[in-house]
Amino acid sequence: MTDRYAVVGNPVAHSLSPQIHTAFARQTGADLVYTRLLAPLDRFAACIAEFRAEGGAGVNVTLPFKLEAWRLATRRSERAEQAQAVNTLRFDGGVVFGDNTDGAGLVRDIEINCAHAIAGRRVLLLGAGGAARGVLLPLIGCRPSALVIANRSIDKALALAQHFSRWGACRACSYAELAANTFDIVINATSASVAGELPPLPAGVFAPGSLAYDMMYGARALPFLQSAQAQGAARGIDGLGMLVEQAAEAFFVWRGVRPQTAPVIAALKEIR
Ligand code: NDP
Repeated sequence: MTDRYAVVGNPVAHSLSPQIHTAFARQTGADLVYTRLLAPLDRFAACIAEFRAEGGAGVNVTLPFKLEAWRLATRRSERAEQAQAVNTLRFDGGVVFGDNTDGAGLVRDIEINCAHAIAGRRVLLLGAGGAARGVLLPLIGCRPSALVIANRSIDKALALAQHFSRWGACRACSYAELAANTFDIVINATSASVAGELPPLPAGVFAPGSLAYDMMYGARALPFLQSAQAQGAARGIDGLGMLVEQAAEAFFVWRGVRPQTAPVIAALKEIR
C-alpha cells in the first residue's frame, strides 16, 4: 500500500520537502507519495484531521504552525517537548506523535557534512525564535565549551537561556554585549536573511578558523556568510544541508530507515 505524507505550512509552495522525500523514497525503495498542503492560518488542526482521515501517515510542519503542531501532538519526544515546537508528526492509530528534527539536522550538518566539531568550541546562536528554540537541546548535547544566545529582544534570549541551562551551560546577551567576545561557530537562526538584513553583530566576534552558519539557504544566505568571511570567519555554510538532514531524521521517525543525505544535498545544489 502506498503511504501518504505531506508538508503542511502557509505559505508552502516554495518547500523543497517533496523533492527531498521523493528522493529518499526512491533511494530506500519506500512506496510513498509526498505532497504539499497549504493550510489556511485558522485551519491547521482541521487540515491535519482531514489528512489523517484520508489515510495520511505523517506530516512535516513548517511556518507558522510548529507551535500548533506541538499542541496537537498527544505524545512528544523530549527534544520536541523542550523546544515547544514540532516539525514532524507521525500518526500511530489514535496517537499523534510529535518530534522536532531541526536540531539533529543542524548538528549533523555541522559535525558530519562540514566536519566541524562542536564539542569544546565556543558557539554563538543568533536569534531566539522557533528555530533557535528547536536546536538548543541538541546543541547543548554536543558539549560546546560555551553557548551564548544573542537576540534583538533580549527578554526572549534570557527566557531561552533560563529554560535550557538546566541541561548545560548556556547564557544570553544583547548584540552590544558581544563586543570583545570571540566564537568558533556562529549560527544565524534569525530571519534577518529573509528580509535581506544582517543581524547587528559587533565587529570581532569571529575567531580565526571559525565557522559561520546561516539556517537560510541559497542566495538569501549570502549577505550574512560573505559579511562573516569579511570579518574573519574561515568558512560560511548555508542551511541547505540542515534542511536535508532534518528531513532525513523525519524520514527515520516515520519509517525507521535512515536515508543517505549526501546525494540529495548534491542534487539540490546542482539545480539551484
Ligand atoms: P521566528 O520568526 O520564530 O524568529 C525570528 C528571529 O529572528 C527572532 O529571534 C527575531 O528577533 C530575529 N530577527 C528577525 N529579523 C532580525 C533582524 N533584522 N536582526 C536581528 N534579528 C532579527 O523565525 P524562525 O526561528 O522560525 O526561523 C528563523 C530562520 O531559520 C528562518 O530564516 C528560517 O527559514 C530558518 N530555518 C531553517 C531551517 C532549515 O532546515 N534550514 C529550519 C528552520 C528554520 P526578535 O525576537 O528580536 O524579533
